[in-house]
Amino acid sequence: MPKELLQIEQAPPRGDWTDATVQFRKGSFCYGATPKSASYLGLPNPRKWQPFDADWQLPSDWKQTLLAGMKERLNKYRSFRLFMDICVRCGACFDKCHFYLGSSDAKNMPALRAELLRSVYRRYFTLSGRIFGALAGGRELTEDVVKEWFYYFYQCTECRRCSVFCPYGIDTAEITMFARELLDSIGCGINWVIEPAANCFRTGNHLGIPPHAFKDSLEFAAGEVKELTGIGIEVPINRKGAEVLFVMPSADYFGEPHYYTLLGYLMLFHEIGLDYTVSAFASEGGNFGLFSSHELTKRLNAKIYEEAKRLRVKWILGGECGHMWRVLHQYMDTMNGPADFLEPPVSPITGTPFDNARSTGAVHICEFTADLLYHNRLRVDPSRNDRWNVTFHDSCNPSRAMGLLEEPRYVIKRTCRNFHEMPEDTIREKTFCCGSGAGLGTDENLEVRLRGGFPRANAVKYVKEKHGVNLLACICAIDKATLPTLMEYWVPGVEVAGVHELLGNALVMTGEKERLTDLRGEPLPGRSEQ
Ligand code: SF4
Ligand code: SF4
Repeated sequence: MPKELLQIEQAPPRGDWTDATVQFRKGSFCYGATPKSASYLGLPNPRKWQPFDADWQLPSDWKQTLLAGMKERLNKYRSFRLFMDICVRCGACFDKCHFYLGSSDAKNMPALRAELLRSVYRRYFTLSGRIFGALAGGRELTEDVVKEWFYYFYQCTECRRCSVFCPYGIDTAEITMFARELLDSIGCGINWVIEPAANCFRTGNHLGIPPHAFKDSLEFAAGEVKELTGIGIEVPINRKGAEVLFVMPSADYFGEPHYYTLLGYLMLFHEIGLDYTVSAFASEGGNFGLFSSHELTKRLNAKIYEEAKRLRVKWILGGECGHMWRVLHQYMDTMNGPADFLEPPVSPITGTPFDNARSTGAVHICEFTADLLYHNRLRVDPSRNDRWNVTFHDSCNPSRAMGLLEEPRYVIKRTCRNFHEMPEDTIREKTFCCGSGAGLGTDENLEVRLRGGFPRANAVKYVKEKHGVNLLACICAIDKATLPTLMEYWVPGVEVAGVHELLGNALVMTGEKERLTDLRGEPLPGRSEQ
């Protein structure tokens, strides 16, 4: 195992934590949003800047803007005021953040991360702080504090692991969201969030893929399915009157290993004869607005409902994505809903009503497939996945934000014969983040990602050494994009796959020719090409 990042300084930091000076060292921060993308979204203070610049070219009224923004949110969101007031510094969350575990930087302890904002709240919004200042735990809002916010609130993946352990239910992810909104209000967003969001506005998806390329990509995938199975399939696009609108993250039709997940979906839909359509307008399930502001989340999310309405579908089926599900499950209903033009989702194959999705009209693909398998409506041959020794990474959002714990496991266990769980305190609600979510999955902050992903990787290493695990399955597009790098660094020899890739391998389609390879083109165990 490479040792460089294991040199973690465990001694408590010397000096006063209230000193806000931050060193923007290579590998430890994300680049600032470009003026082009920020302008496209109409965000404030678009300019060419980088965090390592001495002068951040903040607007002249930056301080008033931030304090007014805090005041507005304190009045509007009871949760924000509560989170600012109630932390008792019990310490339960201190060692629960993967960024703290991987770096030992005290300001990555959830309670101290929140304190960066809370200290300013105390100084300006509490009587004791206004009178006694630092003696009452207050801090002046300075440019250095703004830079410190930027540094540490972009070293939080909004994963919510810390909140599972907080006896008061303080959700540091929400505190990070508030802080990022405030930073955006003075033009201090990161490019890895703002550019995908701008792309989404322009072309419908984060990667900026235009509709004709979206169509080409899906047709190419259909060709791959034909080559593999001998079965010709159609991928309906923008078809009005279909029963179901299928929405997926754009990486599924453009990235690897995501693409194999897409093949799995398409094979499944063809096999069960699902009456569905995809949309070239809602060609992105993900929502990078979530990593910027409530307003941007809402703007990006709206297109899914608009498209469901325009296409007159009955309900929405969503693919393997992480934060997409946080938005669909927790915010969409009140943000752009209620979706009273949709019908309560019912599986057309098994008749199962998805009561949990009644208000949003959106069903997760793992719920849908697990139900099909449970009712024995799919023929599967798990031996086709015998080259894999599988473990499952609970992606933070589907697990902690929507409680999707059993369904993916059920699909894996029905389609694979070798499955091993990672240690109990690293899975399900207590899952460790990949270290690259919430807009941090870029290259310039690689050291932060590898450090933050260390606890996850360490648990994978454990099952690799104990059980010979060689595949990390997951149901999140960001995981599929970033876990391969993490594995390559910490646990070489472990690959990454979506759950519906495993389903696609195992699925015995009606009329298929003998399969000799899996979806990756690798020989199936026990079969050889002539
Ligand atoms: S667990 Fe909750 S109350 Fe305890 S220190 Fe952390 S945030 Fe504060
Ligand atoms: S990264 Fe996750 S565990 Fe760490 S502070 Fe943020 S929400 Fe909490």
